[in-house]
Amino acid sequence: MMTTKKLYDEDAYRTQFNASVLSCEPHPVSDKEAEARIPLYDIVLDQTLFFPEEGGQNADTGSVNSHPVLDVQIKDGIIVHTTDAPFAPGSEITGQIDWKPRYSNMQQHSGEHIISGLVHSYFGYDNVGFHLGVKNVTLDFNGFLTPEQLELIETLANEAIYQNIEINAVYPPKEQLDILEYRSKIELTGPVRIVTIPGYDICACCAPHVKRTGEIGIIKITDAVRYKGGIRISIQCGNRALEDFRMKQQQLNAISVLLSAKQETAADAVAKLKEDMFTLKGQMFALQNSLIEQKAAAILQESENLLLFESHLEPAMQKNYANLLTEKCSGICIIFTGNDKEGYRYIIASLSQDVRPLNNLLKTQLQAKGGGSKEMVQGSCHSSKEQICHLFENCAGQYLNGRLQLYT
Ligand SMILES: [Zn+2]
Repeated sequence: MMTTKKLYDEDAYRTQFNASVLSCEPHPVSDKEAEARIPLYDIVLDQTLFFPEEGGQNADTGSVNSHPVLDVQIKDGIIVHTTDAPFAPGSEITGQIDWKPRYSNMQQHSGEHIISGLVHSYFGYDNVGFHLGVKNVTLDFNGFLTPEQLELIETLANEAIYQNIEINAVYPPKEQLDILEYRSKIELTGPVRIVTIPGYDICACCAPHVKRTGEIGIIKITDAVRYKGGIRISIQCGNRALEDFRMKQQQLNAISVLLSAKQETAADAVAKLKEDMFTLKGQMFALQNSLIEQKAAAILQESENLLLFESHLEPAMQKNYANLLTEKCSGICIIFTGNDKEGYRYIIASLSQDVRPLNNLLKTQLQAKGGGSKEMVQGSCHSSKEQICHLFENCAGQYLNGRLQLYT
């Protein structure tokens, strides 16, 4: 059987290797994909530095004889590299892995072991899910942790970094494995690789790790949500944590400049701003309400049908306005609010007739969206005022009893 020697097991820090091609097959793609895509090939090598997508971690990227390695998968113990060129079986290749993302993965993964080991020993919960993606690292535990407990874990994890402890990975003999206490202990047929961070974690793991905990740099828990009866936390380690910190500092700087507040009190300044907004909105509602009352009073009593345009009315005010006006007109009242650029929201209302047929006309002629009851419909459209007026002047006659009065 073909097997590939896992060079990344022996030295996680090597980036270049030579290997022989054992096989090369066209990469299976669906008919749909095949039309648009250039042909891809799956190659198996006698040895590789490419870590495949495995155990929740994304695959290494890099190249084989300068051709990009687009994906690396492992199936039944065979590591398959997908690339855009065919390679003759028996030929020799030079492979190169992209060091920056690989090293970042090593930092994140070693950080994950420290966190999972600590959560297990302090709170007894197991890591039941792990995802190490290009941007996010998430860990799922089968028990909930409070913010204080998470802070404790984070503090202890960073202490493990300051101690710069050696991390080692070995394949212990079976008799030793049987009596060893470690995380992820399941009955495996092949040899089991044990990654140990003395004092913090012992776990079965196939991924490359940093040599010493100091290389992780920092472990920061950046998010925590309840998940499947337990918790899902996000972490950032090493350079990713630095980039995350930069992004957040830029955001905080911008907020503090915009609100002329110190960074330490930016949240208080935002809360104050929200409170002011709430007060202003209340005042605006009151003003709009007295405005529509005055406007409604100015409209002729006993109008037949009304079509009105208002540049800005809050949805609740628009409804109030419609209620005031239906009292004054014997037919249908239509209120549009908005502008040509952003579109219009409308209400069609009547106390005497079904307004839905007129709404259907707007839907078919103006591609409007909306609906409601026989007495009142609400909707929106992206037509111009000119198009709306044109429709009412020329096509809406059959839906209206009597004259249509226009207020713009
Ligand atoms: Zn692991």
